[in-house]
Amino acid sequence: MEYIPLFFDLKDRSILLVGGGEVALRKARLLTRAGAKVEVVALAVDPELSELVVASGGSVEVGEYHPVQLKGKVLVVAATDNDMLNRRISVDAKNASVQVNVVDSPELCTFIFPAIVDRSPIVIGISSAGKAPVLARNLRAKLETLIPQSYSQLGTLVGRFRKQVQAKFSHINGRRAFWESVFEGPVAEKVYAGQLDEAERLLAQQIEQSDGQQPTGEVYLVGAGPGDPELLTFKALRLMQQADVVLYDALVSAEVLDLCRRDADLIFVGKRRSNHALAQEDINQLLVDLAKQGKRVVRLKGGDPFIFGRGGEELETLHEQGVPFQVVPGITAASACSSYAGIPLTHRDYAQSVRFVTGQLKSRKNALDFNELAVENQTLVFYMGLHTLPDIVSGLVGAGKDSATPIAIVSKGTCKDQQVLTGTLANIVERQNLAQLPGPALLIVGEVVKLQEKLAWFGEQAAVELPEYIEAVA
Ligand code: SAH
Repeated sequence: MEYIPLFFDLKDRSILLVGGGEVALRKARLLTRAGAKVEVVALAVDPELSELVVASGGSVEVGEYHPVQLKGKVLVVAATDNDMLNRRISVDAKNASVQVNVVDSPELCTFIFPAIVDRSPIVIGISSAGKAPVLARNLRAKLETLIPQSYSQLGTLVGRFRKQVQAKFSHINGRRAFWESVFEGPVAEKVYAGQLDEAERLLAQQIEQSDGQQPTGEVYLVGAGPGDPELLTFKALRLMQQADVVLYDALVSAEVLDLCRRDADLIFVGKRRSNHALAQEDINQLLVDLAKQGKRVVRLKGGDPFIFGRGGEELETLHEQGVPFQVVPGITAASACSSYAGIPLTHRDYAQSVRFVTGQLKSRKNALDFNELAVENQTLVFYMGLHTLPDIVSGLVGAGKDSATPIAIVSKGTCKDQQVLTGTLANIVERQNLAQLPGPALLIVGEVVKLQEKLAWFGEQAAVELPEYIEAVA
């Protein structure tokens, strides 16, 4: 982040505005709207500008800029078309520790003005750090159409009842649950419908009737998808934005995590192969304990929680302990990786079925039956199979699968650094030894992999040079 957005209370604070033209007028409009007292200095001052600043308690000085004018100011804005003068003002202001903005010259500024969506008291500032102001304005235009004008009235209305609600609900969770019910219920609807008095009456009634208790907690088992945050469901996003606590594991991407509510507690609970931050039983118990404290807990899992995610085990504990829960499916790695790699999992000519298989072959009890997997016209997708690739390949070939069968390794599917390595059962182990694609990675085995040559559209193809003798085998 190059600039941090801060919201500055300018009410009755003095600001120096150097410049008397159109640009200065625009800045003066903004600054006076925030209650600032603007002192304008310029050789010639637009009459409208002059009227505006005087009417809002500021002043106008027709004449030269002088550094002494910086005294007692909290901000200075240079809006002249004289480059030398703008530079001088920037240097003087920095020397005097007064924050400075030079219009259209980010390099001379210590602060910049964002594009603003104003639904006061709700205000959104958008910045491109001076790099793409038009992009920031585009985004602003989008938000303007999304956010009802009446947010302003809603914000003002609830602001008046804030103290009352604070007194009624001693606990923060209770307060937050109350306000959420207000914003999603009839009070907000009345405001949107322009019935402000009715909204106020309803709100007062709702406060009166609530018992001030903290709500009961709940657990949401949420599929975070494979990495690309745009693949989250709306429901996942909504619950992530409401969570008090988020328990997440290693597969959840940083971009997805970033979409959780800002002040939610984020707890990392593992697991990246054998490096479990918390044992499964401890995670199960932690979910129960947090929910019993009245918290809304999001258990965020990579992909889909019910596909190789141990989601079922966590829910069993919740069920036993009487904690309410919901499950939100996510896009599982098989769907995501196949789409982003350009490998359809089924195809009329090549595969009439697809199987999702674990590549963890450690436990004898769960040993894979390769004879059953080696059938024709079926796509196999191995999760957690990168480290057992040689065993999977020899298992399949040993069970009679043609060693010319195509296979793909999709590494970090849907992420910016996604890579795809293709080959055949005969050469993929050698190719991966050379390419060393990192996990998490998915293996896709079957004729459908051939389509990747035509259908790939995202990310990189891993480049490996195979020694000639290996090519010959393939
Ligand atoms: N519940 C998850 C799977 C968890 S098992 C889901 O539905 O996707 C972990 C395995 O998933 C990894 O070893 C890898 O094989 C696969 N995986 C998860 N995310 C992946 C990604 N972005 N790219 C490739 N493979 C991924």
